[in-house]
Amino acid sequence: MTRLSITVDHGAITRNVERLQEHAPTAQVMAVVKADAYGHGLVESGAAAREGGATWLGVAQPDEALALRAAGDTGRLLCWLYGPELPARGLIRAGVDLSASSLEVLDTIVAAARMSGEVARVHVAIDTGLSREGVRPEALPALIDAALAADDAVVVVGAWSHLAWADRPGDPTIDRQAAVFRDALAVIEARGIALEVRHLANSAATLTRPDLHFDLVRPGIAVYGLPPVPDADGGDWGLTPAMRVTASLALVKDVPAGEGVSYGHEYTTPRDTRLGLVTAGYSDGIFRSAGGGRGPVAIGGRRHVIAGRVCMDQVVLDLGPDATERPGDEVVLIGADGPSAREWAEAAGTIDYEIVCRFGGLKEKHPA
Ligand SMILES: *Cc1c(COP(=O)(O)O)cnc(C)c1O
Repeated sequence: MTRLSITVDHGAITRNVERLQEHAPTAQVMAVVKADAYGHGLVESGAAAREGGATWLGVAQPDEALALRAAGDTGRLLCWLYGPELPARGLIRAGVDLSASSLEVLDTIVAAARMSGEVARVHVAIDTGLSREGVRPEALPALIDAALAADDAVVVVGAWSHLAWADRPGDPTIDRQAAVFRDALAVIEARGIALEVRHLANSAATLTRPDLHFDLVRPGIAVYGLPPVPDADGGDWGLTPAMRVTASLALVKDVPAGEGVSYGHEYTTPRDTRLGLVTAGYSDGIFRSAGGGRGPVAIGGRRHVIAGRVCMDQVVLDLGPDATERPGDEVVLIGADGPSAREWAEAAGTIDYEIVCRFGGLKEKHPA
């Protein structure tokens, strides 16, 4: 029996990319489809993003890039997360642009390109202050010189970095990182390299910092319709959430006031009421931290919260004394007619990125 149903509206992804392109009219859009497109399905989401005008796709892992190529994607594609063990030959042969964060990685790319007689397209990653991937600015000249010395095997087509606090507009780290990035671009260009694409902006910077769009923006979460920050009206920038998560009501029963509900009796019925049982729990991906009156759901447009603890395969709702819900009713965990991923994030003490990755990762387990 299907306990959770996870469906993705890929048309929404297409429309969201169109919206993002409108917000960044002078830049190309790279839709970030790492982590199975944030749980939305790598290949289908990549195709939907292309349809919306994404001239680039971005992934972290080499196998994600190869999976896109195997599925027939032929557009520009950047892959950025690996050590010197990366399968560079296969990626170069597949026409995947590669990020270089270190001399070791560049060496691997150069050796692989020479072996296959091809020229690899490289984007230099610069650590402008996130202290994650990328070469530190002081080590940048040596990396560029190494790339130039291997110009039979690699061509530097891009330079990029990633922001630490883009989702806190006005944070001083944003301008500081942008300044370090501009200095790094000057170092690269002073060596005679004509960069095809300079890129820095994630979703939040795409929406809030037009001055940081450069040649290419790299939105991820917004592609899936989840706004990283509210717009000026407290709204959603015209984005549409693509993921819907539902379960069904298995049992409805009346209980008197004062009954303990679920393990540990953390919830006690405050009045005579009607309880509803939903057959999905933490083994199905529902965050256990969302118990205790936090995790939100909607049934027929009426909102409820999880009463008491989230169990392994079930949760209980207090539907109230006047409840008209019936066994078999659809319970919406995330959807246009129910809670948002952000509400679930607040309930579970996390971010909406983790919510969609988690629920999306359950698609195989719970085919729609
Ligand atoms: C994940 C990621 C993005 C997209 O970030 P969002 O906040 O989801 O827009 C962009 N660039 C890099 C390097 C990333 O790792």
